[in-house]
Amino acid sequence: MSAPLSSVADPTTANPTTANPAAANPAAAEAPRRRPAVIELRRISKIYGVGDIEVHALKDISLDIERGDFVAIMGASGSGKSTLMNVIGCLDVATKGRYRLAGTDVGNLTDDEQATIRNRRIGFIFQSFNLIPRTTALVNVELPLVYAGVKRGERRDRAIAALERVGLGARIDHMPNQLSGGQQQRVAIARAIVTNPAIILADEPTGALDSTSTAEVLSIFEELNMERRTVVVITHEDEVAVHAKRVVRFRDGEIVSDVRQATIRGLPPNVSSPAHAVRSIA
Ligand code: ADP
Ligand code: MG
Repeated sequence: MSAPLSSVADPTTANPTTANPAAANPAAAEAPRRRPAVIELRRISKIYGVGDIEVHALKDISLDIERGDFVAIMGASGSGKSTLMNVIGCLDVATKGRYRLAGTDVGNLTDDEQATIRNRRIGFIFQSFNLIPRTTALVNVELPLVYAGVKRGERRDRAIAALERVGLGARIDHMPNQLSGGQQQRVAIARAIVTNPAIILADEPTGALDSTSTAEVLSIFEELNMERRTVVVITHEDEVAVHAKRVVRFRDGEIVSDVRQATIRGLPPNVSSPAHAVRSIA
């Protein structure tokens, strides 16, 4: 975890301290916001199939997620969590409702424009890692930069930095089958952050990991969040949810509870040492 990424470069969501009175006054930190949430879902429904086999996976969901929040989405299997992640990540479109991502109405975008916004703003992490087999960690991590048109030398440098960031600087030439599950998930995290996304979306990222690897992954998420990245983690594990600043629970396609565990601008709840925070952000 030595070489932190550069801070999130995102002119549309940048919020310089000088222009932000709340930063100087912690008491006002959660004061009324002056700009829209980075993720704004309004009355979103998702229906799969037709007629007798219709499944209402999301039922009239409204949810705002602010920049810099760390949100756990919880719920039993089949409650609509992955469907929600697919909508938020522009991997699928809602049947009804409006979704704005960083102020842009996703419903008005072409498929190509959706792919571009997804590439620029979002880093995805999945339970099953989704690495390309028989391909080195380095090449796996370089891939999003190939799509983004980054030149070979810069691609390599950035991929190595991302792998060092997740503690895998000594494993860049390993194939996925030469790495443990936890290491493979860290490669997947490096791949997700190599484009410097403002939003990290993870669907059951620790579902296939042992407790040590789970702790490593969570501490990387905490660091990414302390850099003011928005982190959304889908999980059914309470041990994961305790690390989030906010926990939203789903049941049968509806939000049944929404609990804040720590302020958006503060440290994640399980990070107690300011020294840790300073080291991570510096
Ligand atoms: P979770 O991630 O919480 O387990 P999902 O979002 O995957 O839940 O699924 C929500 C509901 O939608 C489930 O009933 C599931 O069977 C259904 N579903 C998910 N994807 C599809 C699909 N592509 N086609 C039809 N039904 C689906
Ligand atoms: Mg799921």
